[in-house]
Parts: sequence; structure tokens; C-alpha cells
Amino acid sequence: MKVELVNIGKKYEGRENFTIRNIDLVIEENEFCVILGPSGSGKSTVLRMIAGLASITEGDLLFNGKRMNRVEPKDRDIAMVFQSYALYPHMTVYENMAFSLKMKKERKTVIHESVLEAAETLQISEYLYSRPSEISGGQRQRVALGRAMVRNPAVFLMDEPLSNLDAKLREHMRVELVRLHKSLNTTSIYVTHDQTEAMTMADKIVLFDDGKVQQIGAPTEFYENPANLFVAGFIGSPTMNIFHGKMNNGVFRTDNDLVVVEPKPEDAILLKPYEGKEVCMGIRSERFNAGLAEKNNVTVKIDVIEMLGKEQLLYCKFPDGHEVVISEPGYFEYGVDEDHDFNFDLDGVHFFDADTTLRIN
Ligand code: ADP
Ligand code: MG
Repeated sequence: MKVELVNIGKKYEGRENFTIRNIDLVIEENEFCVILGPSGSGKSTVLRMIAGLASITEGDLLFNGKRMNRVEPKDRDIAMVFQSYALYPHMTVYENMAFSLKMKKERKTVIHESVLEAAETLQISEYLYSRPSEISGGQRQRVALGRAMVRNPAVFLMDEPLSNLDAKLREHMRVELVRLHKSLNTTSIYVTHDQTEAMTMADKIVLFDDGKVQQIGAPTEFYENPANLFVAGFIGSPTMNIFHGKMNNGVFRTDNDLVVVEPKPEDAILLKPYEGKEVCMGIRSERFNAGLAEKNNVTVKIDVIEMLGKEQLLYCKFPDGHEVVISEPGYFEYGVDEDHDFNFDLDGVHFFDADTTLRIN
């Protein structure tokens, strides 16, 4: 099913301002769309409006072109999985999964087949007759997914379904969910505050802040072409290094000339209108290389080293105390308090308008 949000807004009763404003979003049939944003940015509100659990104040919600604003949740052909799995503790896994179909007065044989099939896909067949308290957190999360799957919905809605799992299991379930989506081929809308989940799972990411869409696109688009400073800072770990400076004779300079960038010719053209004005320069940690080059170098002192195995993150300081994070291969040898030269790759340099925060190049 294709899901469209047309200029959707939400104002909760008793609140002064709109929680969500002017959301335009198209989620294509079978797409895996991730709604990403910090806590309180309105992600759950959007999902609940799609589910019919929260009313829509303005705009239109369309399923395959049909307006759904006033359609009851039970008639929307959706299934939702929450962060708290909310399984019935007194029922077995089987009964939990069968429950919604039983309520719909589905035939016993149909229910049985659906539950067995979902259990098989999710690899929980051997726990069907256990109670939720007798299985692990990861297995419970699978039961919650199974409960949604048996309904064979046209749209799958998930609100932070992995947040209660430990790191290892989250990593595992991320891959499982992508696999599951591939086999079910159902339009899926997944809410998370975790940019790694969004980057690894999404066909399309919608990044929210403060109830407004900041950017919509594929994960690589977010990483390589962040629309503004907020997106640049939110996506990617470690966070993109940002330097404040001014354009002077076509060259970017920070206050005391610690970072000087001579932009690529195509960027120089875009930066022309910014002559004499403040701009921000962003560069990711992996865009630095060891040693001096002809141009675009920095000299810094290593403050802290975070060894991650395949790479190491060097938390460095300029003489004025300004910080920069540089990532280098794990097998290079660096020591704390050493001074080092690095050069950076102009292809990895982003410029942002300091006033509007929008990307320039
Ligand atoms: P997120 O899921 O991104 O953390 P939410 O959609 O839950 O954000 O909340 C967005 C904002 O809406 C918050 O400021 C929250 O307090 C407010 N909000 C959420 N639900 C309600 C409600 N039922 N009534 C009033 N305000 C609400
Ligand atoms: Mg939420």
C-alpha cells in the first residue's frame, strides 16, 4: 500500500502550539521508511496519526489515494508494534499471536496456519507453548512482531521496537527485520531515535526535528549531502566536525587561521555570494589523512584515543582549544599528547550558511 501524508499537522488539545507542522511525505508500496529524530520531536505522534490512534488536526492521510483521516483504526488494515511488547502474560506465545485473529472470529484452521507460519519465519516455533515470562527479551520482541504479522496487514507500523533490547541483540534484530521485510514485502514505517538503525535499515529516511521535516531521502543522501547543520550533526558517528569561519578572497578561514580551506572550483562559485560573510565548514572524521599535503592541512595535539579495532578515533585539539575528531586505521600508531599533521580531502568538505544553517555546496 502507498501511504501519503499531505500537509499534515497536529495540535494536541490543551497545547498552545502545533506539535507537528506541514508534513508532506510519500511512502511507496513495499518501502521501508524510517522516521528518525530526537526524543520529543513528534515521531510517535506521526505514527499514531497513521494508525488512527491520534486524530489529524489538518491535512490529509491517504492510503492508495483514499482519504483515511476519519477511518477507524481497525478498518485501516495496519498492524503496530510498540517498544513495550505488551504481551498478555497469562497467555502462551501461541495464544498471544492468535489473539487478534480470534477476536476477528477467523476460522481455527486459518488461525493455526497463520500462527505456525509466522512462528517459523521468526524462528520461535519451539516457544509456542511457553509464557512470555519464560522467554528472553529478544524472543518476546519476536512474538510481538509475530502478533502483528499474523494479521497480514497492508502497512506495518513499528515504534522503537528494539529500544528495550541489549546492544548485541539490537544489532542482530536489525538484520532480522530487514530480512523479514524482504520476505513479507509490506509497506513498513519504523520510528526510531537511533541514527544507526535508520542508516542500516531504511530505504527512505525522514528526519524530524521539532515537529518539522528536516530532510527526506536515502541513507547515503543523508550522509553525503546533509540538507542543513542539524542533519549534518545528527547523522553519522562520530558527529561531523563543524568549524565557524568567514569567506575571505574565496578562501574559508577560521578566526585565527587554524583551518584554512581553498574550496574546489565548483564550490568556489557557490560560495561567491558569501564573500566577507560567516559560513560553517563541516568535515567528517574519515576525510582526514595522516601527514602534510600541499594544501588543506591541520596541525593538532592528540587528546584522547578511542581504539575501536579496525579504526581509531583521535580526539584532537588545536592550540586554541578547538576540538576535532579524526579517524585513522587501527594499525597506525599514535600516542596521547603527540602533535600530528593531517591533510583533508576537499571532496568531503561541506559548507553551510551560518544564518539559515542550509547547505551551500
Ligand atoms: P517522539 O516520539 O519523537 O519522542 P512524541 O510524538 O511522543 O515524540 O511527542 C511530541 C510532543 O508531543 C512532545 O512534546 C509530547 O509531550 C507531546 N505529546 C505527545 N502526546 C501527547 C498527548 N497525548 N497530549 C499532549 N501532548 C502530547
Ligand atoms: Mg516516541
